[in-house]
Amino acid sequence: MKIRIIGAAGGEVTGSAYLVQTADATILVDAGMFQGGKSSEEKNKLPKGAQVTGINAVLLTHGHLDHTGRLPLLIKFGYNNPVYATQPTLDLARIILADSARLQSADAMRRNRKKFKKPGDPVAEPLYATEHVEYINELVRPVQFHQPIEVAKGITATWIEAGHMLGSGSIELKITENEKTKTIVFSGDLGPLSLPVLRPYEQFHHADLVFMESTYGNRDHKSLKDTLEEFEEVVSEVAKTGGKILIPTFAIGRAQQLIYHLAEMFHKGKVKQFPIYLDSPMGIEAAKIYRQHLDLLDDEFQELKAAGAFPVDERYFIPTPTAKESQSLNELNGPMMILAGAGMCNGGRILHHLAHNLGQPETYVIIVGFQSYASLGRKLVDGFEEVKIFGKEHKLKAKVKTLNGFSAHAGQTDLLNWFSTLAPSKPKVIVTHGEDEQRKTLSGLLKKKFGVKTVLPELNQVIEF
Ligand SMILES: [Zn+2]
Repeated sequence: MKIRIIGAAGGEVTGSAYLVQTADATILVDAGMFQGGKSSEEKNKLPKGAQVTGINAVLLTHGHLDHTGRLPLLIKFGYNNPVYATQPTLDLARIILADSARLQSADAMRRNRKKFKKPGDPVAEPLYATEHVEYINELVRPVQFHQPIEVAKGITATWIEAGHMLGSGSIELKITENEKTKTIVFSGDLGPLSLPVLRPYEQFHHADLVFMESTYGNRDHKSLKDTLEEFEEVVSEVAKTGGKILIPTFAIGRAQQLIYHLAEMFHKGKVKQFPIYLDSPMGIEAAKIYRQHLDLLDDEFQELKAAGAFPVDERYFIPTPTAKESQSLNELNGPMMILAGAGMCNGGRILHHLAHNLGQPETYVIIVGFQSYASLGRKLVDGFEEVKIFGKEHKLKAKVKTLNGFSAHAGQTDLLNWFSTLAPSKPKVIVTHGEDEQRKTLSGLLKKKFGVKTVLPELNQVIEF
C-alpha cells in the first residue's frame, strides 16, 4: 500500500490530509485546508488531473478547518462517496465549513471590486460555495467511538477519543491486502490531559505505522492551574471595578471552556455572577451542539452539571446573534465578559468592542490564542500606545493580559505519554503537523525514549508500506 501525505508536512501545521491507496481501495484521512500566507491559496487548489471520483471514502478525525476545509472542494469536483466521522465532528464541521464558504465568497467579491483589482488580475473565485458544503449532508455516515466499521474494501476503521475538541478522534485502520493485515494509526490532533470540559484522550496499543501530530513537540504548556489563578485575579478585579473583559477568541472550543471556568467560579461563590456575552453566531450554534452531546463531556463537567450549574446553558451566557444586539453591548456597563471573534483581532465583532473600550483603564483584554506578526492582537500584546481600528487611532489605556495555558493541543509530555502504549509494537512513526523545531524535537525524543524509526515527511511524500 501507499500513503501520500498531502498536507501538514514539510514543517507545516495546516492542510492535514492522507491518501491511503491499497490494491483494492483508496481512502482519504482528513481533507484539511492550508491556512495563512499567500502560498496556501495555491496549495488548496486541486492539482491538475486529480481524480477525486476514485476515492472510496473520506474519514475525518475532527471538525477543525485545517482537517476538513478541502472536503467541499472534493464535492465540487464530483466526490460522491461516504464521509465517516463521529456525529459531533460532522455537526461542527458543517458550521465551520459554512462559515468558511461565506468568508471566501465575501473575500472574492471584495477583491474583484475595481479599486482593489490591478489590470490583468484574474477574477478572484472562492474555492467552493455553500451548496458544496450542504451536499455533505447527503454523504455523512456517523460512527461511534470504539466500534470498528468497514469503510472500503479491506479497510476497517475505529475511532477513539482524542480529547482535542468535541467529537475529536484518533483513527486506527486495519488494512488487509493479499491476506496480510497491517495496522495504521492516525493520532489526529491530541488534546492536553488537563483540558477541562472534554474527556481525556484514549490510547491504542498496537500499530505497524503511526502518523503523529507534533504541534507542541518541543515544549510543555504553562500549567492550567497557574493560568486559572491569573484568570481568577482578573475576574475578581473586574467584578469590583465594574470593567469589561474582552476576549478575542475562536468560537468553538475555547469559548465553551472559558464559560465553563467562569460558571465554576460563580457556582463556588468565588465571584458574584455577572453577564457573559457570547457574541458570535458560530459560537452560539456550537453551544447547541455541545448540549446535544453531553455524554462526551468529562467527569468534572458532569459533576458541575449534577450540582445544578450547567455551563453550556444560557443561564450562564447571553447569546447576541445579531449585529444590532452586538452593538447594543456598547451601551451597557460592566462587570461583564464579552467573547467575540476573530481570535487575532484581524476582523469580526471584537473590533467594535475594542474600539469602544480600549480607552477605558478598567477594561481587560485577555489574549488566549496565538497572535501572528502584524495582527492587531499582536500589537496589543506588544504594548503599542496607540492602535488603529476602522481607520481611527485609539489610545491603549485598557490592560492587556496574555494567558497561555488554555491550549487545546497536547504538550510534549502528553504527546509522549499518548505514544507510550504503542511503543512496544515498534511502529515506524511519521511525524507530521508541526513546525520544523517542534517535529524534530519530538522525533528525536521518540527515537531516544522508545527506539522507534521516525520520518519527517515533505509535502506530497509517499510512504510505501
Ligand atoms: Zn484541530
